[in-house]
Amino acid sequence: MKTVHNFNAGPSILPREVFQQASAAILDYEGTGLSILELGHRTPTFESVLEEARNLVKELMGLGDEHEVLFLHGGASTQFLQVPMNLLGEQEMATYLDTGVWASKAIKEAKNFGKVDVIASSKEKNYNYIPKEFITAKTAKYLHITSNNTIYGTQWHDYSPVYEAGIPLVADMSSDILSKCLDFRKFDLIYAGAQKNIGAAGVTMVIIKKEILGSVERTIPTMLDYQQHIANGSMLNTPPVFAIYVCLLTLRWLKKQGGVTAIEKINEEKAGLLYQAIDNSGIFKGTAVKEDRSLMNVSFTAESEELEKEFLKVCKEENFIGVKGHRSVGGFRASIYNAMPLESVKIFSDFIKNFAQRKG
Ligand SMILES: *Cc1c(COP(=O)(O)O)cnc(C)c1O
Repeated sequence: MKTVHNFNAGPSILPREVFQQASAAILDYEGTGLSILELGHRTPTFESVLEEARNLVKELMGLGDEHEVLFLHGGASTQFLQVPMNLLGEQEMATYLDTGVWASKAIKEAKNFGKVDVIASSKEKNYNYIPKEFITAKTAKYLHITSNNTIYGTQWHDYSPVYEAGIPLVADMSSDILSKCLDFRKFDLIYAGAQKNIGAAGVTMVIIKKEILGSVERTIPTMLDYQQHIANGSMLNTPPVFAIYVCLLTLRWLKKQGGVTAIEKINEEKAGLLYQAIDNSGIFKGTAVKEDRSLMNVSFTAESEELEKEFLKVCKEENFIGVKGHRSVGGFRASIYNAMPLESVKIFSDFIKNFAQRKG
């Protein structure tokens, strides 16, 4: 097998041992003679997978009994509508921060359910920073943020303006969940598509403080009702069994690395190496404002279109996969999620340095 360095934004790299364990479980799940793919979901075997995954999420995030962990279908994009459907009454108002395409999609969906106040936006600068000055009405039902803006490479680092809003907090953490230390208990609802930092595509993790549910009057379809999912332990229907199992393997791996505190240090080191290589290159430039740079998605451009083409070409030759930037930003983006080895980032940083030396 050839060695590739996978910098894709999502679905993205997972730890090697997770791929190996998941492969083995497809052939024979822990000596049962059954594949994980043919395992009944209402069996003690799968219930223990779900239970362990739930408990590991709580343990790694330092959550207590007030939070419930759900594994749902539909991607983070379904949460854009499921959140307001469950939390926002028709006459009520929710506040949103517009920090990118994903945030604005969440805003669009919320408008179908109640009033939406977009209290700050960085759109005028093509979302290259995180707006930190805003006023949140105390009467708002919740404040919605996107913790890491995958496309633009910006990330919240200082949450104090968000905490100070003093209203229930909802966060789309799809691309940085479990990558850095946070007081997760301060959040009333967190959601994340698994395919970036915690597992395979097909499952979405939703973490909810139970007390915020049950206040809207509309009829919520069963499959979209958080309370129903909680009451049925994420098993209203057949859950995405395999995707949940891959999450469990990734969560076990993360715990073995030393949990969020340990992975955060490595993530900082990885991002530090890459940003340093870019900043010192003379030909590349980071696209995000420095203080808001993401530790997960490093986006940058080259000084000319010609150089960009050439860089992409040599990246391909050297098996650096997925480094082309999103079309709305251009240039390049290296996604360096939890599972991206430090070694690969070192190799890529050196590659950037050498390329710059040759071209500068
Ligand atoms: C990828 C992404 C989404 C969309 O996730 P799906 O699971 O494909 O719906 C939403 N928000 C953020 C921040 C993302 O990075």
